Amino acid sequence: MAQAPSRNGKSLNGVVMEFEAVIGLETHVQLCTKTKIFCSSSTEFGAEPNQHIDPVTLGLPGSLPVLNRQVLENAIMLGLAMNCEIRRYNRFARKHYFYPDLPKGYQISQYEEPICERGHLNVPMDGAIRTIGITRIHMEEDAGKNIHDSRTHSSLIDLNRAGVALLEIVTQPDLRSPAEASAYLRTLRQIVRFLGVSDGNMEEGSLRCDANISLRPVGQVKFGTRTEIKNLNSFKFVERALEYEIARQMSLLKSGKSIVQETMLFDSATGATRSLRSKEESADYRYFPDPDLPPLVIEEAYIRSIQERMPTLPEQRSKELVDGYGLTAYDAQVLTVERMNIDFFEEVFKVCQNAKLACSWLTSELFGALNTAGLDLKRSPVSARNLGELVKLIDSEAISGKMAKTVFEEMFATGKAPGEIVAARGLKQLTNDDDIAKVVESVFANNAKQLADYVGGNDRLHAFFVGQVMKSTQGTANPKKVNDIILSLIKKRRG
Ligand code: ADP
Ligand code: MG
Repeated sequence: MAQAPSRNGKSLNGVVMEFEAVIGLETHVQLCTKTKIFCSSSTEFGAEPNQHIDPVTLGLPGSLPVLNRQVLENAIMLGLAMNCEIRRYNRFARKHYFYPDLPKGYQISQYEEPICERGHLNVPMDGAIRTIGITRIHMEEDAGKNIHDSRTHSSLIDLNRAGVALLEIVTQPDLRSPAEASAYLRTLRQIVRFLGVSDGNMEEGSLRCDANISLRPVGQVKFGTRTEIKNLNSFKFVERALEYEIARQMSLLKSGKSIVQETMLFDSATGATRSLRSKEESADYRYFPDPDLPPLVIEEAYIRSIQERMPTLPEQRSKELVDGYGLTAYDAQVLTVERMNIDFFEEVFKVCQNAKLACSWLTSELFGALNTAGLDLKRSPVSARNLGELVKLIDSEAISGKMAKTVFEEMFATGKAPGEIVAARGLKQLTNDDDIAKVVESVFANNAKQLADYVGGNDRLHAFFVGQVMKSTQGTANPKKVNDIILSLIKKRRG
């Protein structure tokens, strides 16, 4: 039940009022198209300053933008993946502001007619699914970069990034905690990477997020006044900035003060947010349709052709892993973190046909070894085919789990196929019942006294005999079979 708030932030009965956080994210995803959104300059990261520029990037008079078709396709693909409606009649708009890294004096963006609207994203969160509303996704161009040189007291401008394609994804104010905000971002990142539209690399700035946050008393429907924290570039910073801002707003509200709507910056060194400017209104940007770009009319058939080319999304693939392969939800989650993981898993499975073993050898052994070696799956010395072969050898009991570890180590070090290693080392598990029984009988013969005790009822000697058989086969006998065969031979003798 909602409690009536009083001015000092306490409920009337004197209990401290509980607040709830309301969060909405605006995320910029940099697309990995080869060329910029409105011209043919390269988008390559890390070039010398001002190498990827041209008249359109520089906003020279007389130059005209032409939309990169790939950007439109990527926008529609992401929109479909986030369950959005795709707008048929699209326009680009000019958003005006003055900044040295924006040579035209305006950014080409979309305003009232964004390409995607009214979607949602299912975000796995603590074993449940939270559905987060997506207000819109629009296409726009990135700005350049200002570099402030403290030695020369000058500001330098690099326009390589100016005009690189971005998609901005805006959520409804549906998120309720910093952890939810970061779970949403992780899911978004996973999707753009699955689709191959962006590398989602936060350190390089391919995924940047502005977080809007307000508090309201639990039970109140109306939202409180929000602040916006700009340009967060890691999952950790998003969480830390939001936590700081919740505490700051909470203490203001609890002491009866009100929140000023403003735009803030997060300082990762101090962990604090600080005010950047008072909130700008959209009127300040003097938006109007860009007369240099014709309206875009999108046809149903075009949307369908994009849908057909779309890869299966993590949510669906994860469901297949649980329902079709019988894996746990946790395993499915680990395997679908990256598309590369699950593609690799499926190749391993194709060879060995044992999903559980394939999953555990991939996620514990191979991921573990890659991690230690500082490699990723793409550079794995063990191929999917070879890992599949190894699992097959284990599954058919040709080698024991213990031998498999030795074989795996050599596979990882040399890239060799497991069959080759097993043959060269003469590693073969003794699994034939008659062969094992022969060894057991000879061990019995060599330990007549212990055997008599065992048959006479001293069951503690069982372990002794298992140990002797393993020793005399140099560990190659299948331990479970050794166990069973000893039991049955003793039973016979006990009559
Ligand atoms: P603006 O025009 O200032 O960008 P929008 O209406 O586009 O504002 O909202 C920007 C983001 O702020 C959205 O993600 C939205 O969900 C979120 N948001 C709006 N109001 C609130 C609020 N009171 N508290 C928290 N987030 C909010
Ligand atoms: Mg906005």
